[in-house]
Amino acid sequence: MSASTTDPAADLDRVAGLLRDVPDFPTPGILFWDLSALLADGAGLAATTRLLAGGAEHGADVVVGIEARGFLLGAAVAQSLGVGVVAVRKQGKLPVVAASQSYDLEYGSATLELPADVLRPGARALLVDDVLATGGTAAAACALVEGAGARVAGVSVVLELPALRGRDRLAGRPVHALLAK
Ligand code: AMP
Repeated sequence: MSASTTDPAADLDRVAGLLRDVPDFPTPGILFWDLSALLADGAGLAATTRLLAGGAEHGADVVVGIEARGFLLGAAVAQSLGVGVVAVRKQGKLPVVAASQSYDLEYGSATLELPADVLRPGARALLVDDVLATGGTAAAACALVEGAGARVAGVSVVLELPALRGRDRLAGRPVHALLAK
């Protein structure tokens, strides 16, 4: 088989085969899904990009990548769709901020920020991240996008952890997960 394919089933097999699960990282009891090998594999990255781009069923005007692995994947997806990419960042990284959104973590909270003057009102935004777990991160990113007057065309992730019910926090937004574990 060639290293590159446009067969979605073959793309999915390649993606699944390059994911690595690491027990007890970053804390005991957490099974961490590591995408390093997938990102490092040219055909794997291309397959992932093609599949994630499918999350914008009705088109997208811009991709929004969520820090940090969402930046890598989001830029690749944006290129394949022929649109630009906006980086939603953790608090304190952006010099000019349009809005901030806090969300709960298992212990404590975190804040995401949207850069100013980059998201056009009415734009259809495809959000991209690596893993959808509890959904807090993606929900905060959706709130930032919608708060700026843009629309969430979809949320594309490589992997969903359905037991954590992240989809429930994204009600109304189309979620496109390549794999579920
Ligand atoms: P959540 O807000 O709970 O949906 O968490 C999603 C964010 O945390 C994503 O940006 C992921 O990169 C990261 N994340 C959460 N759980 C995991 C996990 N088990 N393995 C890898 N990354 C994770």
